[in-house]
Amino acid sequence: MGPFKLLIDGQLVDGASSQKVLNPSTEDLVAMCPHASHAQLDQAVAAAQRAFPAWSSVPVEDRRKALLGMADAIEADGQNLARLLTQEQGKPLQDAMGEIYGAAAFFRYFSTLSLPDKVIEDSEARKVISRRRPLGVVAAIVPWNFPVILMAFKVPAALLSGNTVILKPAATTPLTTLRIGELVKDILPPGVLNVIADANDLGAAITAHPGIRKVSFTGSTETGKKVMAGAAEALKRITLELGGNDAAIVLDGADPKTVAPKIYNGAFQNAGQVCIAIKRAYVHESIYDAVCDELAILANAAVVGDGLQQGVTMGPLQNKTQFEKVLGLIEDAKSHGKVIAGGARIGEKGYFIRPTIVRDIDDGTRLVDEEQFGPVLPVIKIKDGEDALRRANASEYGLGGSVWTSDLDRALDLAGRMDTGTVWINKHAELAPNIPFGGSKLSGIGTELGEEGLSEFTQLHVINMAKA
Ligand code: NAD
Repeated sequence: MGPFKLLIDGQLVDGASSQKVLNPSTEDLVAMCPHASHAQLDQAVAAAQRAFPAWSSVPVEDRRKALLGMADAIEADGQNLARLLTQEQGKPLQDAMGEIYGAAAFFRYFSTLSLPDKVIEDSEARKVISRRRPLGVVAAIVPWNFPVILMAFKVPAALLSGNTVILKPAATTPLTTLRIGELVKDILPPGVLNVIADANDLGAAITAHPGIRKVSFTGSTETGKKVMAGAAEALKRITLELGGNDAAIVLDGADPKTVAPKIYNGAFQNAGQVCIAIKRAYVHESIYDAVCDELAILANAAVVGDGLQQGVTMGPLQNKTQFEKVLGLIEDAKSHGKVIAGGARIGEKGYFIRPTIVRDIDDGTRLVDEEQFGPVLPVIKIKDGEDALRRANASEYGLGGSVWTSDLDRALDLAGRMDTGTVWINKHAELAPNIPFGGSKLSGIGTELGEEGLSEFTQLHVINMAKA
């Protein structure tokens, strides 16, 4: 497969070096990935700077057309892109299809937005207009769990608002992003979108690069702190979408058979490697046993395997580091709770872990307090919703959370007091391009998606004119 190329200044180019990308289901080679050198990063930034004045001043209609062209190009090659995504990321093919076509839909959504001038005051004394101007060169840095849809949180918004972009996928999942760069190359003027890949070693240079005005970053909290520090010198704009430890609070009166499949999907989609996955379930004591039993049945019924095989419902962990981390958390949890499904790896090859349910576990253990980012769910018994809310809010993370009950007044009351960016009621982890998304506390700074997300790629500009 391949060859894969970097996209710099409208040209497909080789990297200064290259490295293997492995299929996490087989540990075999998918393809070689070109890696950009620091000099190539500089070339990409210089190209993006050169492209900025023209791109930011074309009529917005031209940028809309480009986004629609990119959506068309992604869709036209959707089947191939999805297969490639499954091979490098591991997720089942139908999920990869959802990610690819979903990304195209995000490009279409952003093509409909605009940030019109606002007249703040028009009086005898003055006329004041606020306007949103593009920032310049924007870096989009993406992790390995959803390489394509998370790219589509950033790139169309950055481009529509008139910025030019340096896009960098994660080192273990760069290929689908590079292929998309190739597909859209001729839709955009040279330098407007540059796609580079690395060995997980260019992030600091991107963050601190004097030619880059904003860093839109999705990844771990630890790396997010480095981005913030790196951006401080130039007071660069940053958006940080970081880790989470989402709690689902299941109140008495919820029906275990209705709730359990939804909780299961909220926790185990993408083998649990979702920032807004349910990472701890707080379940009322009156239905605790029944919910645990249902979750175990669902976990045991999962078909875990190579995402390209028909009928597979869960793929492997994406990389060896994460695989070993999750196995370590499961081992630790065995001495603090009772494993009622899963609990071990599958086979000798590939990073497969059976979906694991741990009951009779409590706060204060690693599995409950840390972000597992894998297919293992702790289920904690609660006496009432207030107790669960206190525990949910005790986390240093604040990405998402959910409340499950047929009593909507009670749900709204608890939801309103959950210290997270998003709270769902009777569902979890639903995202849409028009719904703003962001985290509180260590889960991030700023917003993506929707008009709020779009405006983060701009600088507020106020024009205040004397009339009298
Ligand atoms: P990571 O932080 O290790 O890597 C993310 C990206 O940052 C990669 O492209 C990496 O190469 C790059 N990077 C590495 N060092 C850097 C540096 N010093 N400066 C700038 N960039 C650097 O994260 P990961 O392990 O790939 O992703 C998993 C994490 O991402 C989880 O914590 C998950 O919760 C989080 N995540 C958050 C969201 C969200 O929207 N909040 C979405 C998906 C994933």
